[in-house]
Amino acid sequence: MSEETLSNLSREDRTFEPPAELAEHANVTAEAYERAASDREAFWAEAAERLDWEQTWDRVLDWDDPPFAKWFVGGRLNAAYNCVDRHVEAGQGDKVAFHWVGEPADDTRTLTYQQLQDEVCKAANALTELGVKAGDRVAIYLPMLPETVVAMLACARLGAPHTVVFGGFSSDALASRLTDCEAKVVITSDGGYRRGSASPLKPAVDEARAKAAGEGFEVEHVLVVRRTGQEVDWDDAVDVWWHEAVDNASSEHTCEFFDSEHPLYVMYTSGTTGKPKGILHTTGGYLTGTSYTHHAIFDHKPETDVYWCTADVGWVTGHSYMVYGPLANGATQVMYEGTPDTPHKGRWWEIIQEYGVTIFYTAPTAIRTFMKQGREIPDGFDLSSIRLLGSVGESINPEAYMWYREVIGGDRCPIVDTWWQTETGQILISPLPGVTAGKPGSAMTAMPGIEADVVDEAGESVPDGSGGYLVVKSPWPAMLRTIWGDDERFKETYWSRFAKQGYYFAGDGAKKDDDGDIWLLGRVDDVMNVSGHRLSTTEIESALVSHPKVAEAAVVGAADETTGQAVCAFVILRDSAGDGGEDIVEELRKHVQKEIGAIAKPRQIMIVPELPKTRSGKIMRRLLKDVAEHREVGDVTTLADSSVMNLISDGLSSEKADD
Ligand code: ATP
Ligand code: MG
Repeated sequence: MSEETLSNLSREDRTFEPPAELAEHANVTAEAYERAASDREAFWAEAAERLDWEQTWDRVLDWDDPPFAKWFVGGRLNAAYNCVDRHVEAGQGDKVAFHWVGEPADDTRTLTYQQLQDEVCKAANALTELGVKAGDRVAIYLPMLPETVVAMLACARLGAPHTVVFGGFSSDALASRLTDCEAKVVITSDGGYRRGSASPLKPAVDEARAKAAGEGFEVEHVLVVRRTGQEVDWDDAVDVWWHEAVDNASSEHTCEFFDSEHPLYVMYTSGTTGKPKGILHTTGGYLTGTSYTHHAIFDHKPETDVYWCTADVGWVTGHSYMVYGPLANGATQVMYEGTPDTPHKGRWWEIIQEYGVTIFYTAPTAIRTFMKQGREIPDGFDLSSIRLLGSVGESINPEAYMWYREVIGGDRCPIVDTWWQTETGQILISPLPGVTAGKPGSAMTAMPGIEADVVDEAGESVPDGSGGYLVVKSPWPAMLRTIWGDDERFKETYWSRFAKQGYYFAGDGAKKDDDGDIWLLGRVDDVMNVSGHRLSTTEIESALVSHPKVAEAAVVGAADETTGQAVCAFVILRDSAGDGGEDIVEELRKHVQKEIGAIAKPRQIMIVPELPKTRSGKIMRRLLKDVAEHREVGDVTTLADSSVMNLISDGLSSEKADD
């Protein structure tokens, strides 16, 4: 008998059938699963045919030298041409590509596909003028502006891989990325609007450039978008204004076509578990995987839908499901510059009402923040245009799923809980909205053409009802090709754990329920061992969040003399719960016991005002574990707000442990 890999604690009986109308007209139906399973390569080849190729491939997949995959071998295409030009050529030039909404009131811009094409061509000409050639790397460090998308597409057009660095990152983070991928040019802005004020960006680039130079790496040029009009330091030898270089460039640009495996971009992971890794994505497979899944999972209808993905373009979600996937599909999108609470807490809902958003894709962390604030805020807006909701980034707790479904989706819209990673490039596990009856908290099943499974220590598939390691058993088109400049680390990180089987493993735990549907259970690094039971974070957190006074929860295992490890929980209360009352801790401990059993009952529960999160909004449990074990807090460089850890430790020292 093998030992229990991961306990299965929670039960969920609610299911929601696809709306009849959606199912009837769904882009993808149940037959896709069988078709894909019977011939996976033929299935992906058909998906690739949705794109325009200058030359088609000779071979769908080359997996002769695993784990180094090549997709659509011999094919040639241009990603920017597929995202922009081909729609204009098809007569869609007047169609809106982006309704861009700035953070300051009434600061909006509309970009049609024709305008997008003109801008991308001009930017491509300007970059060429600055010496950028195919293969050169370009860093993009910008807020959420139309120019950000234009810059990415201009790089893609030239075959110059971009690396987008989230605008909230420090000059250190920027410098390490610039040197890691040796960026020739940086595209930035004077500043951007966030939380109601103009914050500078250019100074961080100046600093990063100086740091890189100190390490012997020189950035050649910095192309600067004028957004806020604030003062900037200027180096004539290096700095160039976008409005001079790009606005004066020609809008004629004949694009070159590149090999299907030509590098498209390098994206660094969020850094939830440690030092970010530079993930390399290439062109043909990536565009196939992202555009097909966007079409299938969001049931996207280009003629009628208004799609809004709230992710920052500095994350992979912004790359795959705001830029490449949706644009390849000719989508009309909303893009918003600022924060959800500026100038008021209903800003997102106001934007949905204003633009008639029909498909809305966001993260559980945002949903839980809105739950904390109360439903009165979204209830004040007309959200009836929405027909489909999506979630990504972390597990969506059943309680948050129900709130999202009822309050934002008016109890009529399906929710797609999409599991994927920077490394996977495309969504791998998700319901299909016209096929799958969704269960609150489950990502459900692998997409057609994807072979995912949950396995035990030995790599054997676990039976339904058990937990283990989530693996992918065969290659998929948008998979990472390597870690930039480090093939060994690529093999070691993702392919060594189940090397014998040849499975991809990137660190997440999961379980199969009695129907075989997949539930994500958090990182395996975060699994707790309590009296010999291996408990995941997600289920205990979800049990806490299901209490009406709780908005958010994070659970970690702390060393314990009697049980090996003990469950420690950090909890944020809903605004309506006030301080929770005198007995709140005991109330919550009992609640967890009742929901999932005595074994999971937290030894300690700490009520905190905030949780440590990465800049992409994910909870950083390893820092909480340091607090729970009274250690010095570890590396906080990817933490969004460094004062949060002080808030938490200060609060704790004044609180006694409850046992
Ligand atoms: P790093 O790898 O640097 O620690 P990261 O893993 O947070 O950072 P991302 O690639 O942005 O970087 O995030 C992918 C991870 O997010 C997944 O491995 C998984 O843990 C989590 N995740 C994403 N979507 C879901 C989902 N729908 N359900 C559960 N977890 C999800
Ligand atoms: Mg990761």
